[in-house]
Amino acid sequence: MQQTGIHIAGRWEAGITSIENRNPSDVSDLIGHYGQANGDLLEEALNSARQAQPTWWAAGVQKRHDVLMAIGTELMSRATEIGELIAREEGKPAAEGKGEVYRAGQFFTWFAAEALRNQGDLAESVRPGVEIDVRREPVGIVAIVSPWNFPVATPAWKIAPALAYGNAVLWKPANLTLASAVALTEIITRQDIPAGLFNLVSGPGREVGQHLVESPLIDAISFTGSVSVGRSIAASAIGNMTRLQMEMGSKNPLVIMDDADLDLAVSCAAGAAFGGTGQKCTAASRLIVHESIHDAFVERLVKAAEAFTVGHALEADTQLGPVVSDTQLQQNLAYIDTGKAEGAELLCGGERLERATDGYYMSPAVFSGTRNDMRINREEMFAPITCVIKAGGYDEALNMANDTEFGLTAGIMTQSLARASHFRANARAGCVMVNLPTAGTDYHVPFGGRGASSYGPREQGSYAAEFYTVVKTAYVAAGEPL
Ligand code: NDP
Repeated sequence: MQQTGIHIAGRWEAGITSIENRNPSDVSDLIGHYGQANGDLLEEALNSARQAQPTWWAAGVQKRHDVLMAIGTELMSRATEIGELIAREEGKPAAEGKGEVYRAGQFFTWFAAEALRNQGDLAESVRPGVEIDVRREPVGIVAIVSPWNFPVATPAWKIAPALAYGNAVLWKPANLTLASAVALTEIITRQDIPAGLFNLVSGPGREVGQHLVESPLIDAISFTGSVSVGRSIAASAIGNMTRLQMEMGSKNPLVIMDDADLDLAVSCAAGAAFGGTGQKCTAASRLIVHESIHDAFVERLVKAAEAFTVGHALEADTQLGPVVSDTQLQQNLAYIDTGKAEGAELLCGGERLERATDGYYMSPAVFSGTRNDMRINREEMFAPITCVIKAGGYDEALNMANDTEFGLTAGIMTQSLARASHFRANARAGCVMVNLPTAGTDYHVPFGGRGASSYGPREQGSYAAEFYTVVKTAYVAAGEPL
């Protein structure tokens, strides 16, 4: 079986050691062996990126546009094929995998055009005869460290702006999803780009990832993953004065008011809580429900949870695939025990399921009778588990929604414009949703959160320029008129 996983200085490398990846829907299905880099390979990648980056910047905006457009177009045209690979490797249903790859393509085509829109400012100086211009230049070499839950879309929304604005990239993907990483790298490195501009440096996070983020040769780090790893990356970055952008966990609230359309509320809550098997940083994990509709809402939510078809990610009728790994499954089941021990009532799900193939299947779970101070309402579970909290009124619901260390997305279901407007203004979150699920965002506007959910400039849309470029202000004395 082919062993790869590393692309450095324009060539594929077998790596020093290797790991094997298996299908979480069927662990007898071996996807492949993937090479793991070490410090020497990483240093070579860093040096090749340093040489390639000025050439790429000098190639100009039309070149960068064309390359990104070609990458995006190929991703969109191969969305079904690569989407099935994601389903096989990560466990999300194939339709969701296809949607993810198509979205990844949209990030590249959007940033292709953004390369052309990289315009500066002109200013009059306070000193006569002096002209000022303000331009954006590449930050240099960007280290990208990405997770497994969106193995193509998340790196795409980081790689596309990095390349569009003229940077070189070293990408450390999650070790659980290296087939997807190889597929994306094949498309990017087949383009007419300088050798070493884009490097795939697979390896264990605690070794290769850590070595990468500790390197003083890196100019910027963009990370998505857990808060604990984020904290350790931040410490390394500050030590080197490296620019940093991080998206981490959350504990997203969805407030359901007494005037909400109940059918819509249930469908938004269930979709956002259990979609992607709950493994989304935007998942609706705290459902804060007005007491007057609490019982009716919970009854319908349980029916919706029990109606999900849990199965092999490549089967057509599957709505929820397996969780990504045995480690994640054991963590999820431990949270079920934690919730029960804290006094929450498990209304449905929370059990390991048997299917025709040996995989990490779990039934979607609903806890009721929970309090906002319980661990299951404080810690990101990344599981198909959601918790209902009863609220006496809007003010109490808003206070509970904001009572968290996180702040990525927050939603409200209401037919009152006044309440929706108040919530939009007062929810402590980077993204607010009104009569929509907490998960599901667009690709052309900024994405990010507050508190422990995010650190540094926003990702996506034109706001991405704040991270991937440095601003240069030039003063030019034009001299005496001729
Ligand atoms: P991690 O934060 O451990 O991994 C994310 C990425 O960081 C991976 O590429 C990982 O590599 C890498 N990494 C790990 N340790 C280091 C390090 N010391 N220095 C540099 N890079 C490192 O997330 P997990 O995959 O372990 O998931 C654990 C929990 O994190 C989940 O249960 C969930 O709560 C949260 N999470 C949140 C995500 C989000 O989108 N906000 C996404 C994924 C997870 P490797 O794969 O080799 O370990």
